[in-house]
Amino acid sequence: MSEKYVYTFGDGKAEGRADMKLLLGGKGANLAEMSNLGIPVPAGFTISTKVCSDFYNNGGKYNDPVVEQVKNGVQHIEKIMGAKFGDNSNPLLVSVRSGAPASMPGMMDTVLNLGLNDDTIKGITAQSNNERFGWDSYRRFIQMYGDVVMEMKPESKEEEDPFEVIIQEMKDSKALKLDTEMTAEDLKQLVSHFKQAIKKRTGKDFPTDPWEQLWGAISAVFRSWNNPRALTYRKLNNIPANWGTAVNVQSMVYGNMGDDCATGVAFTRDPATGVKKFYGEYLVNAQGEDVVAGIRNPQPVDESTKTGADQVTLESLMPEAYRELDRIYNLLERHYRDMQDIEFTIQKGKLWMLQTRNGKRTAEAAVRIAVEMVEEGLIDEQTAIMRIQPEQIDQLLHPKFDPSASKKVIAKGLPASPGAATGRIVFHADDAEEWFERGEQVILVRIETSPEDIGGMNVAQGILTSRGGMTSHAAVVARGMGTCCVAGCSDLNISYKNKTISVNGITLKEGDWISLDGSKGEVIEGKVPTVTPELSGNFGKIMAWADKKRRLKVRTNADTPHDSEVARNFGAEGIGLCRTEHMFFEGDRIRAVREMILANNEAGRRKALAKLLPYQKEDFYGIFKAMHDLPVTIRTLDPPLHEFLPNDEKSQQEMADEMGISREEVQQKVDSLHELNPMLGHRGCRLGITYPEITEMQARAIMEAACQLTKEGIKVYPEIMIPLVGTRAELANQKEVVKRVADEVQKEFGVKVDYLVGTMIEIPRAALTADEVAEEAEFFSFGTNDLTQMAFGYSRDDAGKFLREYIEGGILPEDPFQVLDQTGVGQLVEIAVKKGRQTRKDMKIGICGEHGGEPKSVAFCHRVGMNYVSCSPYRVPIARLAAAQEAIRTESK
Ligand code: PEP
Ligand code: MG
Repeated sequence: MSEKYVYTFGDGKAEGRADMKLLLGGKGANLAEMSNLGIPVPAGFTISTKVCSDFYNNGGKYNDPVVEQVKNGVQHIEKIMGAKFGDNSNPLLVSVRSGAPASMPGMMDTVLNLGLNDDTIKGITAQSNNERFGWDSYRRFIQMYGDVVMEMKPESKEEEDPFEVIIQEMKDSKALKLDTEMTAEDLKQLVSHFKQAIKKRTGKDFPTDPWEQLWGAISAVFRSWNNPRALTYRKLNNIPANWGTAVNVQSMVYGNMGDDCATGVAFTRDPATGVKKFYGEYLVNAQGEDVVAGIRNPQPVDESTKTGADQVTLESLMPEAYRELDRIYNLLERHYRDMQDIEFTIQKGKLWMLQTRNGKRTAEAAVRIAVEMVEEGLIDEQTAIMRIQPEQIDQLLHPKFDPSASKKVIAKGLPASPGAATGRIVFHADDAEEWFERGEQVILVRIETSPEDIGGMNVAQGILTSRGGMTSHAAVVARGMGTCCVAGCSDLNISYKNKTISVNGITLKEGDWISLDGSKGEVIEGKVPTVTPELSGNFGKIMAWADKKRRLKVRTNADTPHDSEVARNFGAEGIGLCRTEHMFFEGDRIRAVREMILANNEAGRRKALAKLLPYQKEDFYGIFKAMHDLPVTIRTLDPPLHEFLPNDEKSQQEMADEMGISREEVQQKVDSLHELNPMLGHRGCRLGITYPEITEMQARAIMEAACQLTKEGIKVYPEIMIPLVGTRAELANQKEVVKRVADEVQKEFGVKVDYLVGTMIEIPRAALTADEVAEEAEFFSFGTNDLTQMAFGYSRDDAGKFLREYIEGGILPEDPFQVLDQTGVGQLVEIAVKKGRQTRKDMKIGICGEHGGEPKSVAFCHRVGMNYVSCSPYRVPIARLAAAQEAIRTESK
């Protein structure tokens, strides 16, 4: 027996099943499943995705068994529907639709009403007793077939659809406004005009043989698997090219034969809110495409979803068909145990189901539906956890634009930190603070931000930069604060001098209103109203179920007591990274920091550091207290010192005046600190090694705060972390300083504190020699921002310039600063985990780079056996869910 290529369905039976999506495509598998459930589905057959691959491999030819099985498939439909393909008095008409294993809405081609010609049209008009309907179907068929199969497309961007041009000419000549005003005679003329146009353009006659029509349509659907739209969609959604599409050939049913006909689409629950209501729309006497085209206003299906007194529901208009639909949708939802998106047609009072699939939904709806389905006993907690996309949770935590508001998008950048923000443009951080004091709502617009801008960033509703990537300063800080940010928007031309932004012919000035959508990377002109989503009890339930499942701990990256508290409320189980340098900019501290940098000797530095000590101690005290009973990782100073000095003349003069020195002296220091490659320069532990007094001060501040809290009866678990370590000796040097000071302080306070000294693993050499480094390190934390930067050799602050092109051109699958490159950088991580634990069996290992809140990277961290991930506060729930999902996935393997 030859291989099976064609699977029939209809009349309560089917050869396929719902779990055969790879072979039959989503649509075909679900049509088969519905048939098996006894649901009325127009009879048909599915040509498998295998034939699609063969089609491409055999230069567009079909082998004999395929031809034979398609013939049998048509006979199968004929038998059930009691009509005959190509018959003049009782013709069978079919639809030919694509159906890939993953849903690719509208990306591939469809042909309807196939089987019509100048003879069969007579049968159709006679049978339907509706001449207009017959000719309308015929002209729609020629239009679709001409477009899809015979390539009658506009020849240039400026040209309109050639068929629409002919329709318009016809309407103009008769002074008609609407398509529906055309008579049967008009439509008949259109058919003849269409055919002439096809002959003129293609040199070919429109095929009259239904079999030729059928094979033409099947091949066109297979070809559409590789049309540019489909290619782009597949790339964006990671759908493999070798899957191919199936083709569904199915008997036509009509919602446009008269007033006892209708067509509609529905969701079994509200896809926006998740409320358990049958949420659908329909049109009387219409075809599916009329519902989508929006020419007539669709009406609600269910009485409970009526929004106006003038609306006529299907429930009231066709109660019998409605009752059948009600029975079927409930059956489908219970069967699939998920919210369904369905399409139906009512032909002369009889209901036919055309499609069912799992419905797309907002985050709010996803959470509500998952929880309620557990409560209804439809699914278990584990399934509910797997139903929510971790990235979607973002939508729940940040304010969002009112979806009904209109907006003018003027540019697009990177979606660096989610949320929606509206405010007036300011270009400088201190202006932002000043305006804010006056009660203004501002958006801080910068070419790029620096640590100096922190104050302005803190008060801004949103941050917009024209340079920098997803791990640029602006992006990292904004995510930490939960402030909306669009970064690296390179189309913007920002002039600090003129205080203007120009983009695509539009110029905006300081004080003008703009809005940012940080989830989409959109820059929008003017104000857009926002709505604050409420965190429902359902969200808490899903999170609690996730926590029971996950094995990874989730910590947060936070630098202030406030951020720590926010994160704790989101479920953070500690701090994985406290970047101490962010504290150096606030208030009077920057003066002391600059004094230390300007000092020419150790004594001078120590004097300045002594001023910083109480500030740092206060910071750590606040953070430890907010995170009582949980571990807190504090990193010693990391950035190069030049970042703390001003670059422009005006600020240098201000600094010189404040410190009682000349501007030249400031300039000299700036010059002497200048490095060609500052990110590979004098930073991280290298600073602590050349200036041990800095590490000493920080260690003292940490331990004094910890000892004081211990005395107050509050449990603290400090973990002191040394950055940018590349060799064991570097860590040994710094650990010695920390331990010495820690001993001293504990003696002074007369208490003992459980503390650890560990290191970041963010330099490839440290990863490769992790067994040696682990002899000193009591814990590891992967700094995957720097590790990615150094493994790829891409500057994390400048790579935005070419990364977008790399990703669009397929050179890189994703931005490696957002999604951990498991193939390359991931190897360094795996090696370091393995070698680290060779030396120290139970060593605590985590990640604190930006990847710690990205779902795929979190899954990777679970698989390589880390103990925790650490991410910005607003990503904590995302990481909790992603960790639970990976635990479930690996458990079920
Ligand atoms: C890192 O490099 O991944 C990291 C967390 O440190 P930073 O981003 O501060 O360099
Ligand atoms: Mg780093």
